[in-house]
Amino acid sequence: MKEYQATVLTTTPSYASLLAEESEKYGIEIGKDIKLKKIWLTGEGCSSTFRQRLEKWWGCEVSFFYGSTECGVIGGVECSKHQGYHVMEGHIKLEIIDPDSGEVLPYGQTGEIVVTTLLREGMPMVRYRSGDLGKLQKSQCDCGIALDVLELRGKNGAHAPHRGMRIIPPHL
Ligand SMILES: [Zn+2]
Repeated sequence: MKEYQATVLTTTPSYASLLAEESEKYGIEIGKDIKLKKIWLTGEGCSSTFRQRLEKWWGCEVSFFYGSTECGVIGGVECSKHQGYHVMEGHIKLEIIDPDSGEVLPYGQTGEIVVTTLLREGMPMVRYRSGDLGKLQKSQCDCGIALDVLELRGKNGAHAPHRGMRIIPPHL
């Protein structure tokens, strides 16, 4: 990154943290030797506190995007308000289903994220079950983007049954 004067880093939260730690060890000064304008995090979740910590560490805005190897960018991209992922509706059709019955759930209900790719030609996916849990909301985002907002709620199977209810842990 120092050699090529990289300005954007796309990685996982833990690796972004490791890179910052290792930079210090090697005497590479963040903000002087490496001047990032933006970090995109993906691959694993992290809390907004951890995201803010990375912003301080790297001195630039840190945002999440949600995607997978099979489907590419799925849920899309966080805007500068950091309140969920704006769904890339021109690229994919996203549905939330009840993981047990397969029934499509309305806005606001948490279920499994199902993706149909609209632009992929080599390996299109039709109603691909991601195994991830989330819920959709109509956008009321201050940024002005009208694309639906996806909130991730962890992995299907990570929930714990408790007295007949399904307890879903927060997005880690
Ligand atoms: Zn927004």
